Amino acid sequence: MDFKEFIEIDREKRSTEKFEGNFLDYLQILKNNPDIPKLGHQRLYEMILSKGVEDLKPDENPRIRKIYGNQVIRKYGFFKNDFYGIDKVIMKIASYLKSAAMKGEEARQVLYLVGPVGAGKSSIVESLKKALEECEEIYALKGCPMHEEPLHLIPKHLRSKFEDMLSIKIEGDLCPVCKYKLLHELDGKYEDFPVERVGFSIRSRKGIGVVPPVDPNNQDTS
Ligand SMILES: [Zn+2]
Repeated sequence: MDFKEFIEIDREKRSTEKFEGNFLDYLQILKNNPDIPKLGHQRLYEMILSKGVEDLKPDENPRIRKIYGNQVIRKYGFFKNDFYGIDKVIMKIASYLKSAAMKGEEARQVLYLVGPVGAGKSSIVESLKKALEECEEIYALKGCPMHEEPLHLIPKHLRSKFEDMLSIKIEGDLCPVCKYKLLHELDGKYEDFPVERVGFSIRSRKGIGVVPPVDPNNQDTS
């Protein structure tokens, strides 16, 4: 293996994947693929589903009947290799994410994992965090401290028109930093606002926040 070649191939690949553009370019991309903007719950849920789902019926599966009685158990491929015996917990988490992704009441609730030490709370969160890092990069306003969705730039009076044109629901408002930049550096021309692609990163706290625990020995508040 030639290290230099290996590094250069990787750099080449990454630079072709890089996106440089402004809000107008982003709108064009959305026109071709209105599936791009997603809220967190939907992104997580799709990430879990992407690894496959299998329904285990008790009448076809004596083992499942023995453990869970007459309940159909949904096995998520995402958790298959690392978690055992907590199928019901995983089903609960997945159903929370599903309803939240469909903008149900859960979308406004916080998912809080409670259980004894060693039950797998942190491990579940760790596995989600790690998988997010491998997710596709998202589009965000360049320079925004919270990497916000570029659609926030669209002014209120045009939102319903843009929603019709793109078949996308637009939620959320511009953060103060971007608002300042828009007014003072771009003269209010939101179509020129630079857009970049950002990946999730645990280490640089991008898209994944970690609150330092009060007692780091026994709490992980990811
Ligand atoms: Zn912002």
